[in-house]
Amino acid sequence: MGACLGCSWSEADASGLQSLVWRMRWEMTRDEIWRQKLTTYNLEDCAALRRVTEFVYAAAIDPETGLRSRVEANPLVASVQDLDKLSNERKWGPVRFFHAAFDYINACAYFDYQRQRVFVRTSKTLKKNRRRLAQCRNDKVRLSQRVEITSNQCPSCQGANIIRSAKGKKVTGQAPSRKRAFDLLFTSAGIRRKVIECRTRVHECLSCQEIFLPEQYQRLAKHFHGLMSWAMFEHVAHRISYGILAEMLKECFGLTVSRSELHLCKSLMSWYYRTGFRRLLRRILSSPVLHIDETEVNLRTGKGYVWVFTTLEEVMFLYRPTREGDFLKKLLKDFHGVMVSDFYTTYDAIDCPQQKCLIHLMRDMNQDLLNNPFDQELQSITGPFGVLLRQIITTIDQHGLKRGPLKKHHRGVTQFFQSLAAQLFHSEVAEALRQRLLKYRDKLFTFTKYDGVPWNNNNAENAIKRFAYYRENTVGVMKEAGLKDYLILLSICHTCRYRGISFLKFLLSRERDLGTFCDRPRHATMQLPMIELYPKGFPLPRFARPRAKKIVGSDGPAE
Ligand SMILES: [Zn+2]
Repeated sequence: MGACLGCSWSEADASGLQSLVWRMRWEMTRDEIWRQKLTTYNLEDCAALRRVTEFVYAAAIDPETGLRSRVEANPLVASVQDLDKLSNERKWGPVRFFHAAFDYINACAYFDYQRQRVFVRTSKTLKKNRRRLAQCRNDKVRLSQRVEITSNQCPSCQGANIIRSAKGKKVTGQAPSRKRAFDLLFTSAGIRRKVIECRTRVHECLSCQEIFLPEQYQRLAKHFHGLMSWAMFEHVAHRISYGILAEMLKECFGLTVSRSELHLCKSLMSWYYRTGFRRLLRRILSSPVLHIDETEVNLRTGKGYVWVFTTLEEVMFLYRPTREGDFLKKLLKDFHGVMVSDFYTTYDAIDCPQQKCLIHLMRDMNQDLLNNPFDQELQSITGPFGVLLRQIITTIDQHGLKRGPLKKHHRGVTQFFQSLAAQLFHSEVAEALRQRLLKYRDKLFTFTKYDGVPWNNNNAENAIKRFAYYRENTVGVMKEAGLKDYLILLSICHTCRYRGISFLKFLLSRERDLGTFCDRPRHATMQLPMIELYPKGFPLPRFARPRAKKIVGSDGPAE
Protein backbone atom coordinates (compact mmCIF):
# COMPACT_ATOMS: atom_id res chain seq x y z
CA MET A 1 0.00 0.00 0.00
CA GLY A 2 1.35 3.41 -0.93
CA ALA A 3 1.34 6.46 1.29
CA CYS A 4 -1.04 9.34 0.67
CA LEU A 5 0.89 12.36 -0.61
CA GLY A 6 1.02 15.37 1.66
CA CYS A 7 0.13 13.51 4.82
CA SER A 8 1.31 10.56 6.82
CA TRP A 9 -1.84 8.48 6.27
CA SER A 10 -1.79 5.37 4.21
CA GLU A 11 -4.30 4.79 1.41
CA ALA A 12 -6.19 2.41 3.66
CA ASP A 13 -6.67 5.11 6.28
CA ALA A 14 -7.77 7.56 3.61
CA SER A 15 -10.27 5.20 1.92
CA GLY A 16 -11.65 4.17 5.32
CA LEU A 17 -12.30 7.81 6.08
CA GLN A 18 -13.80 8.32 2.61
CA SER A 19 -16.27 5.49 3.26
CA LEU A 20 -17.45 7.28 6.41
CA VAL A 21 -18.07 10.40 4.35
CA TRP A 22 -20.07 8.39 1.76
CA ARG A 23 -22.14 6.78 4.48
CA MET A 24 -22.92 10.19 6.07
CA ARG A 25 -23.96 11.62 2.70
CA TRP A 26 -26.20 8.59 2.00
CA GLU A 27 -27.87 8.94 5.41
CA MET A 28 -28.52 12.61 4.71
CA THR A 29 -29.65 12.39 1.08
CA ARG A 30 -30.61 8.70 0.61
CA ASP A 31 -29.17 9.12 -2.89
CA GLU A 32 -28.55 5.80 -4.68
CA ILE A 33 -25.10 6.94 -5.92
CA TRP A 34 -23.61 6.91 -2.37
CA ARG A 35 -25.14 3.52 -1.67
CA GLN A 36 -23.54 2.15 -4.84
CA LYS A 37 -20.12 3.57 -3.84
CA LEU A 38 -20.35 2.02 -0.37
CA THR A 39 -21.31 -1.41 -1.72
CA THR A 40 -18.41 -1.40 -4.21
CA TYR A 41 -16.03 -0.32 -1.47
CA ASN A 42 -17.15 -3.19 0.81
CA LEU A 43 -16.90 -5.76 -1.98
CA GLU A 44 -13.35 -4.65 -2.88
CA ASP A 45 -12.39 -4.77 0.79
CA CYS A 46 -13.69 -8.34 1.12
CA ALA A 47 -11.87 -9.44 -2.06
CA ALA A 48 -8.58 -7.95 -0.79
CA LEU A 49 -8.99 -9.67 2.58
CA ARG A 50 -9.68 -12.94 0.82
CA ARG A 51 -6.46 -12.59 -1.17
CA VAL A 52 -4.40 -11.92 1.97
CA THR A 53 -6.02 -14.89 3.73
CA GLU A 54 -5.28 -17.21 0.84
CA PHE A 55 -1.66 -16.07 0.67
CA VAL A 56 -1.07 -16.51 4.43
CA TYR A 57 -2.74 -19.91 4.30
CA ALA A 58 -0.53 -21.03 1.42
CA ALA A 59 2.67 -19.66 2.98
CA ALA A 60 2.06 -20.95 6.50
CA ILE A 61 3.99 -24.01 7.70
CA ASP A 62 2.02 -26.88 9.17
CA PRO A 63 3.41 -27.35 12.71
CA GLU A 64 2.84 -31.11 12.53
CA THR A 65 4.35 -31.92 9.14
CA GLY A 66 6.79 -28.99 8.94
CA LEU A 67 5.66 -28.44 5.29
CA ARG A 68 3.83 -25.58 3.59
CA SER A 69 0.05 -26.12 3.71
CA ARG A 70 -0.61 -25.71 -0.03
CA VAL A 71 2.33 -26.36 -2.23
CA GLU A 72 0.49 -25.68 -5.49
CA ALA A 73 -0.01 -22.03 -4.58
CA ASN A 74 3.75 -21.81 -4.29
CA PRO A 75 4.33 -18.20 -3.23
CA LEU A 76 8.02 -17.40 -2.76
CA VAL A 77 8.32 -17.07 0.99
CA ALA A 78 11.34 -16.81 3.30
CA SER A 79 11.42 -16.20 7.03
CA VAL A 80 12.76 -12.87 8.30
CA GLN A 81 15.41 -14.68 10.36
CA ASP A 82 16.73 -16.45 7.24
CA LEU A 83 16.88 -13.17 5.33
CA ASP A 84 18.81 -11.59 8.20
CA LYS A 85 21.30 -14.44 8.13
CA LEU A 86 21.84 -14.05 4.38
CA SER A 87 22.75 -10.41 4.70
CA ASN A 88 25.05 -10.95 7.65
CA GLU A 89 26.73 -14.29 7.17
CA ARG A 90 30.22 -14.22 8.69
CA LYS A 91 32.21 -17.35 9.40
CA TRP A 92 35.57 -17.52 11.11
CA GLY A 93 38.33 -19.90 10.15
CA PRO A 94 39.98 -20.85 6.87
CA VAL A 95 37.93 -20.81 3.66
CA ARG A 96 38.29 -23.49 0.98
CA PHE A 97 38.72 -21.81 -2.40
CA PHE A 98 37.85 -23.41 -5.72
CA HIS A 99 40.67 -21.78 -7.70
CA ALA A 100 44.29 -21.69 -6.55
CA ALA A 101 44.34 -18.05 -7.67
CA PHE A 102 41.55 -17.18 -5.22
CA ASP A 103 43.56 -18.81 -2.45
CA TYR A 104 46.61 -16.75 -3.34
CA ILE A 105 44.60 -13.52 -3.50
CA ASN A 106 42.97 -14.26 -0.15
CA ALA A 107 46.34 -14.95 1.49
CA CYS A 108 47.57 -11.55 0.26
CA ALA A 109 44.59 -9.82 1.86
CA TYR A 110 45.35 -10.73 5.49
CA PHE A 111 45.53 -7.69 7.78
CA ASP A 112 49.02 -8.33 9.13
CA TYR A 113 50.39 -9.35 5.75
CA GLN A 114 49.18 -6.17 4.11
CA ARG A 115 50.53 -3.94 6.85
CA GLN A 116 53.94 -5.61 6.85
CA ARG A 117 54.42 -6.21 3.13
CA VAL A 118 52.17 -3.86 1.18
CA PHE A 119 51.07 -0.74 3.02
CA VAL A 120 54.56 -0.35 4.43
CA ARG A 121 55.81 0.49 0.93
CA THR A 122 53.50 3.47 0.62
CA SER A 123 53.24 4.73 4.21
CA LYS A 124 56.28 6.37 5.83
CA THR A 125 54.75 6.00 9.31
CA LEU A 126 54.26 2.27 8.90
CA LYS A 127 57.81 1.92 7.56
CA LYS A 128 59.24 3.76 10.56
CA ASN A 129 57.10 1.70 12.94
CA ARG A 130 58.29 -1.55 11.43
CA ARG A 131 61.91 -0.53 11.86
CA ARG A 132 61.26 0.53 15.45
CA LEU A 133 59.43 -2.71 16.29
CA ALA A 134 62.22 -4.78 14.80
CA GLN A 135 64.72 -2.93 17.00
CA CYS A 136 62.72 -3.28 20.22
CA ARG A 137 64.26 -6.53 21.22
CA ASN A 138 65.14 -7.76 24.66
CA ASP A 139 68.87 -7.56 23.95
CA LYS A 140 68.61 -3.75 23.91
CA VAL A 141 66.94 -3.52 27.33
CA ARG A 142 69.18 -2.06 30.06
CA LEU A 143 70.82 -4.65 32.32
CA SER A 144 70.14 -4.81 36.04
CA GLN A 145 72.70 -7.47 36.93
CA ARG A 146 75.56 -9.53 35.48
CA VAL A 147 76.21 -13.06 36.66
CA GLU A 148 79.02 -15.41 35.69
CA ILE A 149 78.23 -19.11 35.78
CA THR A 150 81.08 -21.54 36.37
CA SER A 151 81.29 -25.22 37.17
CA ASN A 152 83.77 -27.15 39.31
CA GLN A 153 82.80 -30.60 38.19
CA CYS A 154 83.22 -32.40 34.89
CA PRO A 155 79.88 -33.74 33.64
CA SER A 156 81.65 -36.70 32.02
CA CYS A 157 84.05 -38.08 34.66
CA GLN A 158 82.83 -36.05 37.68
CA GLY A 159 86.44 -34.91 38.17
CA ALA A 160 87.29 -31.50 39.64
CA ASN A 161 90.38 -30.77 37.62
CA ILE A 162 88.79 -28.07 35.45
CA ILE A 163 90.25 -25.10 33.59
CA ARG A 164 88.26 -22.29 31.93
CA SER A 165 89.02 -20.26 28.82
CA ALA A 166 90.38 -16.74 29.26
CA LYS A 167 87.87 -14.01 29.99
CA GLY A 168 86.47 -12.36 26.92
CA LYS A 169 87.30 -15.32 24.70
CA LYS A 170 84.23 -16.26 22.72
CA VAL A 171 82.75 -19.66 22.51
CA THR A 172 82.56 -20.53 18.86
CA GLY A 173 80.04 -22.85 17.26
CA GLN A 174 76.35 -22.82 18.11
CA ALA A 175 76.34 -22.40 21.85
CA PRO A 176 76.22 -18.73 22.90
CA SER A 177 78.43 -17.55 25.76
CA ARG A 178 75.91 -15.14 27.21
CA LYS A 179 72.18 -15.29 27.81
CA ARG A 180 69.63 -12.90 29.21
CA ALA A 181 67.01 -13.76 31.80
CA PHE A 182 64.04 -11.61 32.79
CA ASP A 183 62.20 -11.18 36.04
CA LEU A 184 59.77 -8.84 37.80
CA LEU A 185 60.55 -7.64 41.31
CA PHE A 186 57.63 -6.89 43.60
CA THR A 187 58.01 -4.29 46.35
CA SER A 188 55.39 -2.54 48.45
CA ALA A 189 55.83 0.48 46.15
CA GLY A 190 55.37 -1.30 42.83
CA ILE A 191 56.70 -3.73 40.28
CA ARG A 192 60.14 -3.35 38.68
CA ARG A 193 61.73 -5.11 35.75
CA LYS A 194 64.95 -7.03 36.29
CA VAL A 195 67.24 -8.09 33.46
CA ILE A 196 70.06 -10.48 34.31
CA GLU A 197 72.87 -11.23 31.92
CA CYS A 198 74.53 -14.59 32.53
CA ARG A 199 77.92 -15.30 31.03
CA THR A 200 80.04 -18.35 31.02
CA ARG A 201 83.36 -19.56 29.63
CA VAL A 202 84.39 -22.74 27.93
CA HIS A 203 85.34 -25.37 30.52
CA GLU A 204 87.82 -28.16 29.94
CA CYS A 205 88.38 -31.19 32.14
CA LEU A 206 92.09 -31.94 32.41
CA SER A 207 91.39 -35.54 33.42
CA CYS A 208 89.27 -36.62 30.43
CA GLN A 209 89.69 -33.65 28.05
CA GLU A 210 85.92 -33.06 27.94
CA ILE A 211 85.11 -29.55 26.74
CA PHE A 212 81.82 -28.28 28.08
CA LEU A 213 79.60 -25.40 29.21
CA PRO A 214 78.26 -25.54 32.80
CA GLU A 215 74.94 -27.35 33.13
CA GLN A 216 73.51 -24.42 35.09
CA TYR A 217 74.18 -22.21 32.11
CA GLN A 218 72.59 -24.66 29.71
CA ARG A 219 69.44 -24.97 31.81
CA LEU A 220 69.15 -21.28 32.64
CA ALA A 221 65.49 -20.22 32.55
CA LYS A 222 64.63 -17.24 30.37
CA HIS A 223 61.82 -16.01 32.61
CA PHE A 224 62.12 -16.17 36.37
CA HIS A 225 59.48 -16.97 38.95
CA GLY A 226 58.40 -13.35 39.62
CA LEU A 227 57.58 -12.66 35.98
CA MET A 228 55.86 -16.01 35.52
CA SER A 229 53.84 -15.45 38.70
CA TRP A 230 52.60 -12.08 37.50
CA ALA A 231 51.73 -13.44 34.06
CA MET A 232 49.85 -16.47 35.45
CA PHE A 233 48.10 -14.36 38.07
CA GLU A 234 46.73 -12.15 35.29
CA HIS A 235 45.96 -15.11 33.02
CA VAL A 236 44.20 -17.29 35.60
CA ALA A 237 42.69 -14.85 38.09
CA HIS A 238 41.73 -12.15 35.56
CA ARG A 239 41.42 -14.29 32.39
CA ILE A 240 43.84 -12.09 30.44
CA SER A 241 44.75 -13.78 27.14
CA TYR A 242 48.32 -14.46 26.07
CA GLY A 243 48.06 -11.84 23.33
CA ILE A 244 47.05 -9.10 25.76
CA LEU A 245 49.61 -10.29 28.32
CA ALA A 246 52.36 -9.93 25.70
CA GLU A 247 51.15 -6.39 24.98
CA MET A 248 51.06 -5.54 28.70
CA LEU A 249 54.61 -6.82 29.22
CA LYS A 250 55.76 -4.74 26.25
CA GLU A 251 53.93 -1.57 27.28
CA CYS A 252 54.53 -1.69 31.03
CA PHE A 253 57.96 -3.29 31.27
CA GLY A 254 59.48 -2.98 27.79
CA LEU A 255 59.86 -6.75 27.53
CA THR A 256 59.13 -8.81 24.45
CA VAL A 257 57.59 -12.12 25.49
CA SER A 258 56.01 -14.30 22.80
CA ARG A 259 52.80 -16.29 23.17
CA SER A 260 54.69 -19.57 23.05
CA GLU A 261 56.93 -18.33 25.85
CA LEU A 262 53.84 -17.44 27.91
CA HIS A 263 52.45 -20.88 27.18
CA LEU A 264 55.72 -22.34 28.48
CA CYS A 265 55.36 -20.17 31.62
CA LYS A 266 52.00 -21.84 32.26
CA SER A 267 53.47 -25.32 31.88
CA LEU A 268 56.43 -24.46 34.12
CA MET A 269 54.22 -22.96 36.80
CA SER A 270 51.84 -25.94 36.82
CA TRP A 271 54.90 -28.23 37.02
CA TYR A 272 56.14 -26.22 40.01
CA TYR A 273 52.80 -26.48 41.83
CA ARG A 274 51.92 -30.07 40.99
CA THR A 275 52.96 -31.40 44.40
CA GLY A 276 50.83 -28.75 46.13
CA PHE A 277 47.97 -29.79 43.84
CA ARG A 278 48.29 -33.42 44.93
CA ARG A 279 48.28 -32.37 48.57
CA LEU A 280 45.17 -30.32 47.86
CA LEU A 281 43.48 -33.47 46.56
CA ARG A 282 44.47 -35.39 49.68
CA ARG A 283 43.10 -32.64 51.91
CA ILE A 284 39.81 -32.57 49.98
CA LEU A 285 39.43 -36.34 50.24
CA SER A 286 40.02 -36.28 53.98
CA SER A 287 37.45 -33.55 54.52
CA PRO A 288 34.09 -34.33 56.19
CA VAL A 289 32.16 -32.76 53.27
CA LEU A 290 32.84 -32.93 49.55
CA HIS A 291 30.97 -31.07 46.81
CA ILE A 292 31.20 -32.48 43.33
CA ASP A 293 30.06 -31.36 39.87
CA GLU A 294 31.11 -31.72 36.24
CA THR A 295 30.87 -29.80 32.98
CA GLU A 296 31.65 -30.24 29.32
CA VAL A 297 34.58 -28.64 27.50
CA ASN A 298 35.36 -28.45 23.78
CA LEU A 299 39.01 -29.05 23.05
CA ARG A 300 40.87 -28.97 19.74
CA THR A 301 40.69 -32.76 19.68
CA GLY A 302 37.02 -33.00 20.64
CA LYS A 303 34.86 -33.08 23.70
CA GLY A 304 36.10 -33.59 27.27
CA TYR A 305 34.86 -33.09 30.82
CA VAL A 306 36.06 -31.02 33.74
CA TRP A 307 35.16 -32.26 37.20
CA VAL A 308 35.28 -30.06 40.24
CA PHE A 309 35.74 -31.19 43.85
CA THR A 310 35.33 -28.61 46.58
CA THR A 311 35.13 -28.35 50.33
CA LEU A 312 34.34 -25.13 52.16
CA GLU A 313 38.02 -24.13 51.88
CA GLU A 314 39.48 -25.95 48.88
CA VAL A 315 38.72 -26.29 45.18
CA MET A 316 40.17 -28.77 42.74
CA PHE A 317 39.53 -29.13 39.00
CA LEU A 318 40.29 -32.35 37.19
CA TYR A 319 40.14 -33.13 33.47
CA ARG A 320 38.71 -36.42 32.17
CA PRO A 321 38.23 -37.35 28.51
CA THR A 322 34.78 -38.89 29.17
CA ARG A 323 31.81 -38.30 31.46
CA GLU A 324 31.99 -41.86 32.79
CA GLY A 325 32.36 -41.89 36.53
CA ASP A 326 34.39 -45.08 36.99
CA PHE A 327 37.44 -43.10 38.02
CA LEU A 328 35.34 -41.57 40.82
CA LYS A 329 34.96 -44.89 42.59
CA LYS A 330 38.73 -45.32 42.60
CA LEU A 331 39.41 -41.73 43.56
CA LEU A 332 36.84 -41.66 46.37
CA LYS A 333 37.50 -45.13 47.78
CA ASP A 334 39.04 -43.64 50.95
CA PHE A 335 36.56 -40.81 51.30
CA HIS A 336 34.40 -41.14 54.42
CA GLY A 337 32.57 -37.82 54.58
CA VAL A 338 29.28 -36.68 53.06
CA MET A 339 29.20 -36.07 49.31
CA VAL A 340 27.01 -33.25 48.02
CA SER A 341 26.05 -33.50 44.34
CA ASP A 342 23.30 -33.03 41.79
CA PHE A 343 21.10 -35.91 40.54
CA TYR A 344 23.53 -37.24 37.88
CA THR A 345 23.16 -41.02 38.24
CA THR A 346 26.90 -41.77 38.30
CA TYR A 347 27.09 -40.32 41.81
CA ASP A 348 24.53 -42.84 43.09
CA ALA A 349 27.11 -45.62 42.78
CA ILE A 350 29.57 -43.97 45.19
CA ASP A 351 29.55 -45.69 48.54
CA CYS A 352 29.31 -42.87 51.09
CA PRO A 353 26.59 -40.78 52.77
CA GLN A 354 25.16 -38.42 50.17
CA GLN A 355 23.28 -35.16 50.06
CA LYS A 356 21.53 -34.21 46.82
CA CYS A 357 21.30 -30.54 45.90
CA LEU A 358 17.83 -29.40 47.03
CA ILE A 359 17.99 -26.27 44.89
CA HIS A 360 18.22 -28.53 41.82
CA LEU A 361 15.25 -30.52 43.07
CA MET A 362 13.23 -27.39 43.84
CA ARG A 363 13.93 -25.94 40.36
CA ASP A 364 12.74 -29.19 38.76
CA MET A 365 9.59 -29.16 40.91
CA ASN A 366 8.97 -25.56 39.98
CA GLN A 367 9.28 -26.33 36.26
CA ASP A 368 6.75 -29.17 36.67
CA LEU A 369 4.39 -26.79 38.46
CA LEU A 370 4.70 -24.16 35.74
CA ASN A 371 4.06 -26.79 33.06
CA ASN A 372 1.05 -28.21 34.97
CA PRO A 373 -0.44 -25.28 36.87
CA PHE A 374 -3.75 -27.09 37.57
CA ASP A 375 -2.31 -30.39 38.78
CA GLN A 376 -3.68 -30.65 42.32
CA GLU A 377 -1.89 -33.92 43.03
CA LEU A 378 1.47 -32.38 42.10
CA GLN A 379 0.77 -29.47 44.40
CA SER A 380 -0.13 -31.88 47.20
CA ILE A 381 3.54 -33.03 47.13
CA THR A 382 5.34 -29.77 46.39
CA GLY A 383 3.34 -27.68 48.88
CA PRO A 384 4.22 -29.73 52.02
CA PHE A 385 7.81 -30.15 50.73
CA GLY A 386 8.18 -26.36 50.49
CA VAL A 387 6.78 -25.86 53.99
CA LEU A 388 9.09 -28.53 55.47
CA LEU A 389 12.22 -27.19 53.77
CA ARG A 390 11.38 -23.63 54.68
CA GLN A 391 11.13 -24.57 58.37
CA ILE A 392 14.51 -26.33 58.22
CA ILE A 393 16.17 -23.40 56.49
CA THR A 394 14.82 -21.00 59.10
CA THR A 395 16.53 -23.15 61.75
CA ILE A 396 19.78 -23.08 59.73
CA ASP A 397 19.56 -19.29 59.48
CA GLN A 398 19.34 -19.08 63.26
CA HIS A 399 21.85 -21.75 64.30
CA GLY A 400 23.99 -22.57 61.29
CA LEU A 401 24.54 -26.03 59.85
CA LYS A 402 24.47 -27.89 63.18
CA ARG A 403 22.85 -31.23 63.67
CA GLY A 404 21.75 -30.43 67.25
CA PRO A 405 19.16 -27.77 66.38
CA LEU A 406 18.28 -29.60 63.14
CA LYS A 407 17.36 -32.74 65.05
CA LYS A 408 13.86 -31.43 65.76
CA HIS A 409 13.01 -31.69 62.03
CA HIS A 410 13.68 -35.44 61.79
CA ARG A 411 10.09 -36.25 62.67
CA GLY A 412 8.74 -33.87 60.01
CA VAL A 413 10.96 -35.48 57.38
CA THR A 414 9.87 -39.01 58.33
CA GLN A 415 6.18 -38.01 58.28
CA PHE A 416 6.60 -36.38 54.85
CA PHE A 417 8.04 -39.56 53.33
CA GLN A 418 5.56 -41.83 55.15
CA SER A 419 2.56 -39.98 53.76
CA LEU A 420 4.22 -39.95 50.31
CA ALA A 421 4.78 -43.71 50.39
CA ALA A 422 1.14 -44.32 51.32
CA GLN A 423 -0.26 -42.37 48.36
CA LEU A 424 -0.67 -43.22 44.69
CA PHE A 425 -1.29 -40.55 42.06
CA HIS A 426 -3.19 -40.56 38.77
CA SER A 427 -1.25 -37.61 37.41
CA GLU A 428 1.86 -38.79 35.58
CA VAL A 429 3.99 -35.85 36.70
CA ALA A 430 2.96 -36.21 40.34
CA GLU A 431 3.61 -39.94 40.31
CA ALA A 432 7.06 -39.44 38.71
CA LEU A 433 7.96 -36.87 41.36
CA ARG A 434 6.68 -39.15 44.13
CA GLN A 435 8.87 -41.99 42.88
CA ARG A 436 11.88 -39.72 42.50
CA LEU A 437 11.51 -38.41 46.05
CA LEU A 438 11.13 -41.93 47.44
CA LYS A 439 14.16 -43.13 45.44
CA TYR A 440 16.33 -40.40 46.94
CA ARG A 441 14.65 -40.58 50.34
CA ASP A 442 17.96 -41.21 52.16
CA LYS A 443 19.86 -38.57 50.19
CA LEU A 444 17.66 -35.49 50.52
CA PHE A 445 17.84 -34.62 54.21
CA THR A 446 21.24 -36.12 55.13
CA PHE A 447 22.43 -32.65 56.12
CA THR A 448 20.15 -32.64 59.16
CA LYS A 449 22.16 -35.53 60.63
CA TYR A 450 25.66 -33.99 60.28
CA ASP A 451 27.51 -30.84 61.25
CA GLY A 452 28.54 -28.46 58.47
CA VAL A 453 26.87 -30.21 55.51
CA PRO A 454 25.12 -27.74 53.16
CA TRP A 455 21.74 -28.63 51.62
CA ASN A 456 22.74 -27.36 48.16
CA ASN A 457 25.69 -27.75 45.82
CA ASN A 458 26.47 -24.06 45.35
CA ASN A 459 30.11 -24.49 46.37
CA ALA A 460 30.80 -26.73 43.40
CA GLU A 461 28.53 -24.81 41.03
CA ASN A 462 30.25 -21.54 41.82
CA ALA A 463 33.62 -23.12 41.04
CA ILE A 464 32.30 -24.58 37.77
CA LYS A 465 31.01 -21.15 36.81
CA ARG A 466 34.55 -19.75 37.16
CA PHE A 467 35.79 -22.36 34.75
CA ALA A 468 32.88 -21.70 32.39
CA TYR A 469 33.93 -18.03 32.02
CA TYR A 470 37.34 -19.18 30.83
CA ARG A 471 35.83 -21.86 28.59
CA GLU A 472 33.87 -19.24 26.63
CA ASN A 473 37.05 -17.76 25.15
CA THR A 474 38.88 -21.00 24.42
CA VAL A 475 36.25 -23.10 22.63
CA GLY A 476 37.97 -25.59 20.33
CA VAL A 477 41.44 -24.06 20.59
CA MET A 478 42.88 -25.67 23.70
CA LYS A 479 44.73 -28.97 23.87
CA GLU A 480 44.37 -31.53 26.65
CA ALA A 481 47.85 -30.88 28.11
CA GLY A 482 47.30 -27.11 28.13
CA LEU A 483 43.95 -27.54 29.88
CA LYS A 484 45.44 -29.83 32.54
CA ASP A 485 48.15 -27.25 33.28
CA TYR A 486 45.55 -24.53 33.46
CA LEU A 487 43.34 -26.53 35.85
CA ILE A 488 46.20 -26.97 38.33
CA LEU A 489 46.67 -23.19 38.49
CA LEU A 490 42.92 -22.56 38.54
CA SER A 491 42.54 -24.98 41.48
CA ILE A 492 45.16 -23.07 43.46
CA CYS A 493 43.70 -19.71 42.46
CA HIS A 494 40.21 -20.61 43.69
CA THR A 495 41.45 -22.33 46.83
CA CYS A 496 43.16 -19.03 47.63
CA ARG A 497 39.87 -17.22 46.96
CA TYR A 498 37.88 -19.63 49.19
CA ARG A 499 40.47 -19.15 51.94
CA GLY A 500 40.74 -15.37 51.55
CA ILE A 501 44.42 -15.48 50.54
CA SER A 502 45.98 -13.41 47.75
CA PHE A 503 46.77 -15.72 44.82
CA LEU A 504 49.54 -13.39 43.66
CA LYS A 505 51.17 -13.29 47.10
CA PHE A 506 51.04 -17.06 47.29
CA LEU A 507 52.71 -17.42 43.88
CA LEU A 508 55.38 -14.85 44.75
CA SER A 509 56.09 -16.59 48.07
CA ARG A 510 57.45 -19.57 46.07
CA GLU A 511 55.87 -21.93 48.60
CA ARG A 512 54.55 -24.96 46.74
CA ASP A 513 51.82 -25.82 49.20
CA LEU A 514 49.02 -23.58 50.44
CA GLY A 515 48.99 -25.21 53.88
CA THR A 516 52.67 -24.38 54.42
CA PHE A 517 52.09 -20.86 53.14
CA CYS A 518 49.27 -20.27 55.63
CA ASP A 519 51.26 -21.70 58.56
CA ARG A 520 54.46 -19.71 58.04
CA PRO A 521 55.17 -16.50 59.99
CA ARG A 522 53.46 -13.42 58.55
CA HIS A 523 56.49 -11.53 57.26
CA ALA A 524 58.61 -14.51 56.34
CA THR A 525 60.40 -14.13 53.02
CA MET A 526 62.28 -16.68 51.03
CA GLN A 527 65.85 -15.91 49.96
CA LEU A 528 65.62 -15.42 46.20
CA PRO A 529 68.11 -17.40 44.12
CA MET A 530 70.46 -15.40 41.90
CA ILE A 531 69.56 -17.44 38.83
CA GLU A 532 66.72 -19.84 38.08
CA LEU A 533 66.91 -23.01 36.03
CA TYR A 534 64.42 -25.03 34.03
CA PRO A 535 63.49 -27.97 36.29
CA LYS A 536 65.17 -31.30 35.68
CA GLY A 537 62.90 -33.76 33.88
CA PHE A 538 60.62 -31.01 32.54
CA PRO A 539 59.91 -31.60 28.83
CA LEU A 540 61.03 -28.29 27.29
CA PRO A 541 59.58 -27.31 23.92
CA ARG A 542 62.10 -27.15 21.10
CA PHE A 543 62.48 -23.35 21.12
CA ALA A 544 63.57 -23.36 24.77
CA ARG A 545 65.89 -26.38 24.67
CA PRO A 546 69.65 -25.78 25.09
CA ARG A 547 71.20 -25.67 21.67
CA ALA A 548 73.43 -28.51 20.52
CA LYS A 549 76.82 -28.33 22.11
CA LYS A 550 79.33 -27.52 19.43
CA ILE A 551 82.22 -25.83 21.08
CA VAL A 552 85.32 -25.32 19.06
CA GLY A 553 88.15 -24.33 21.37
CA SER A 554 90.20 -22.73 18.55
CA ASP A 555 93.42 -22.38 20.45
CA GLY A 556 92.40 -24.33 23.49
CA PRO A 557 91.29 -23.02 26.85
CA ALA A 558 93.94 -21.04 28.61
CA GLU A 559 94.06 -20.18 32.26
ZN1 LIG B 1 86.20 -35.20 32.96
